Amino acid sequence: MTHVVVVGGGPAGNQVASRAASLGAEVTLVEDQVVGGAAHLWDCIPSKAMIATAGALSFSRRMAGLGLSGGSQAASVDAAALRRRIEQVTSRLQGSVEDLLASQGVRTLRGEGRLTGAHTVAVRLADGGEGVLRADAIVVATGSRPRLPEWAEPDGERVLTTRQAYPPPEVPEHLVVVGSGVTGVEFVHMFSSLGSKVSLIVSRQHVLPHKDAEVAAALEDELLRRGVQLYKGARAEGVERTPQGIVVHCDDGRTVAGSHVLIAVGSIPNSDRLGLEAAGVTVDKWGYVTVNHHCQTNVPHIYAAGDVCGKLPLSSVASMQGRKVAEHIMGLHTREHRHIDYDKAASAVFTEPEIADVGLAEAEAFATGRKIRVTKVPFGASAKALINDDPRGFVKIISDPATGVVLGGCVVGNQAAELISVIALAVTAGLKVADLVESCLVHPSLSEALADAAE
Ligand SMILES: Cc1cc2nc3c(=O)[nH]c(=O)nc-3n(C[C@H](O)[C@H](O)[C@H](O)COP(=O)(O)OP(=O)(O)OC[C@H]3O[C@@H](n4cnc5c(N)ncnc54)[C@H](O)[C@@H]3O)c2cc1C
Repeated sequence: MTHVVVVGGGPAGNQVASRAASLGAEVTLVEDQVVGGAAHLWDCIPSKAMIATAGALSFSRRMAGLGLSGGSQAASVDAAALRRRIEQVTSRLQGSVEDLLASQGVRTLRGEGRLTGAHTVAVRLADGGEGVLRADAIVVATGSRPRLPEWAEPDGERVLTTRQAYPPPEVPEHLVVVGSGVTGVEFVHMFSSLGSKVSLIVSRQHVLPHKDAEVAAALEDELLRRGVQLYKGARAEGVERTPQGIVVHCDDGRTVAGSHVLIAVGSIPNSDRLGLEAAGVTVDKWGYVTVNHHCQTNVPHIYAAGDVCGKLPLSSVASMQGRKVAEHIMGLHTREHRHIDYDKAASAVFTEPEIADVGLAEAEAFATGRKIRVTKVPFGASAKALINDDPRGFVKIISDPATGVVLGGCVVGNQAAELISVIALAVTAGLKVADLVESCLVHPSLSEALADAAE
């Protein structure tokens, strides 16, 4: 029987373990924190649980638009209850992953794994003791951790990493967020909804530098409407603790004072202290494990999946890689196996307005000279958006003018992360705009805007 040893039990690792076990492998999963990984402990789940609360609070402030009164005075944050809620959601999810793996016969070891050779993993168990596992295939799925610039020393009180903010003991009076990528703007949304004054340091000329400019502009409009102060074109280069809180120093001489600062400037791979060199596995200059389209490293029976291989740092991508790795190990790749097309992965930014996109972006098409058809409708024209009293945002669909094949799209507005699924399916399956237009959808629904945008 093939013995698969998986190091790291986040979305990538637990998907490898589950799928390989279901295909008949003997699987040992080594995890040093919790099964579910950083995704459950610090990243996707706690951040979105907190955003659910933030969104409800933000909604309560707009209740007058729905003919209700008094709500906005009633709602306020109970930081302890919020923390309990986040813990409940994460522990319930962890429990269900653990139960599933146990029911599939996966052996889970709590401890730190380290490769000691091309077929061996040493485990330092959390409750003491050590052991060595022999494996036919090894999967490195150890994820990543927040990148900490040398000028910042997080203290968990005033100078926070993203892992210390769920929520801090008190809701910050004035939070300065450094970093305006997806993680940074999500924290801006969270804390501005929870009532903090927020300042955002934006190193480029607009937030979300890798997104469609129109999408970024829609988010900036909302941030400014909320009173978020944007410091554009400024790079933070120092943080000073003061009796009142913190001061962030920027490279253009500006200073931003606040009560707390949150550093959200990306992540680095957990590939150090893993013994990769002992197994002959190579990493790139940033420390990401280099892999081919099957997620195989340069040592063919050693794979890497998830954030540690640096393809696309999304939980959904990590899970998909995990499944594909298990299938490759078990020889299923010869049948109907499709490589992951990272260009077709949908992603979302859980802000207000919510943002989601998939496939080809307008700017990308212009940069390569590719001819595209761009069609767009605002939610202001949607019956359901008006019924919901939230007509912010739009749907944009990008298609091939010659064939009508849907190449990409984005949604800005309420439920964008759900609505993008339809465009993602169209992009993956090669559907045409006519397929969207001719789908007879529910009325009134936000989805109707997708069909209208495809017209
Ligand atoms: C604030 C934030 C919010 C995010 N929100 C989203 C979102 O909404 N949607 C989305 O798709 N993505 C989101 N992401 C990205 C997502 O969290 C990651 O892409 C995902 O967690 C990667 O999964 P993974 O399995 O590679 O690693 P991880 O989830 O990091 O899991 C790796 C596990 O390996 C363990 N490990 C490390 N070294 C060892 C070792 N030597 N021995 C044993 N175990 C070890 C770690 O403790 C960890 O538990 C977010 C990221 C951040 C920072």
